Amino acid sequence: MTFASGIEPGNAGIAADSIVTPKIFINTGFENASPMNWSIDSAGRVIGAMVYDHERFSPNRAVNHYHFRVEAAEGTEVTLILENFDNIWNGRLASDLSEKSRYVVSFDNKKWESHPVIPLPGRRVFIKFKMEAPFAYIASVEPYRISDLDRMLAKVKQSKNASVTTIGKTSEGRSLEIVRIGNENAPKRLFLRARAHAFEAGGNWTVEGLVQKLLSNDQEAKRYLKTYCVYILPMANKDGVARGKTRFNANGYDLNRKWDKPADSLVAPENYYLEQWLHRMIKANKRPDLALDIHNDAGGYLHVSRPDGDISAYLSSMEKLEMLLRKHTWFTAGSTKPTFRNPGTLGEGFMERFGIHAAVYELNYEWIAGLNKAPLAEDWISLGKNLGEVFYNYFNEGR
Ligand SMILES: [Zn+2]
Repeated sequence: MTFASGIEPGNAGIAADSIVTPKIFINTGFENASPMNWSIDSAGRVIGAMVYDHERFSPNRAVNHYHFRVEAAEGTEVTLILENFDNIWNGRLASDLSEKSRYVVSFDNKKWESHPVIPLPGRRVFIKFKMEAPFAYIASVEPYRISDLDRMLAKVKQSKNASVTTIGKTSEGRSLEIVRIGNENAPKRLFLRARAHAFEAGGNWTVEGLVQKLLSNDQEAKRYLKTYCVYILPMANKDGVARGKTRFNANGYDLNRKWDKPADSLVAPENYYLEQWLHRMIKANKRPDLALDIHNDAGGYLHVSRPDGDISAYLSSMEKLEMLLRKHTWFTAGSTKPTFRNPGTLGEGFMERFGIHAAVYELNYEWIAGLNKAPLAEDWISLGKNLGEVFYNYFNEGR
């Protein structure tokens, strides 16, 4: 069939001879890959339009996560321009992309390198590199996928002094696990949550390091586990991780908000089942003595909550925690200012509703000042390994 205009229906305005066959393909068909549209412009550059992650009943939207595979012949010079970083945060347009923005690249999906990105006007990210293999994985943060978690859970299950308990299901029906390492009757209990926000893989790598250390059964690990038992919800926002989203759960719910009230089992099952587990722990006389919710941001502070009431014992615990983090790990960022409050976060909710000394611990995903380098998985793993000593001293000093 021929058309009078010479243009096929559906290609309105694009003359057939102007369409160039691209030599680059962008693949997003794998776990944790980010949803995006892409095209190749006349200069042969890849224009990647990221898809926003939207909060339910709120103007907030976020894109921090990108993760995709570039497929092209070895030696090809690839230029990527990524757009749609006009994030809305607490109802306001977020600031421009940081000059410190980084990306990570891997040519074998195992070993990753970090490089600076060039922020372009209009909140766009400019990345240029040469293909060292027929494919290159590009991401905003070194990825930690559900398959990485499954490998860790398998190791925990093989270990004598540890267990994996399914406490419920995510919005999309994925299982939510609590890892326990150590003796349930140890004098102290510690709770950690990671990955409430889907792009923040640093928390998962940190937990990985702590779990490796505690399962190593070396003299230090034995000493730690005489003092405390650790309970971990390692990947709270599994659906977001599976779908390559940035922040919210599958229902557009922020799992680090509204902790001042009981969670809705339909909209936020990830929080609901955690609360149910916590109620059971408290009923069984196993209230955690300390809880940390591990996140990534561009600041890296320990977020000390300041709800109303007498919080002097809590504040001195947090001072001790900060001092021990500085002493035993590469942490140098310090705590949030005394004027800082953190309403609605897990840190403040656990404090106010359950009487647990709790805080949000942010890891800077752009730069580790204490190491003077951009973070990779190995740096967060080393942090996690040293957290064992931090918690040991936290529970033993000043008792
Ligand atoms: Zn976060």
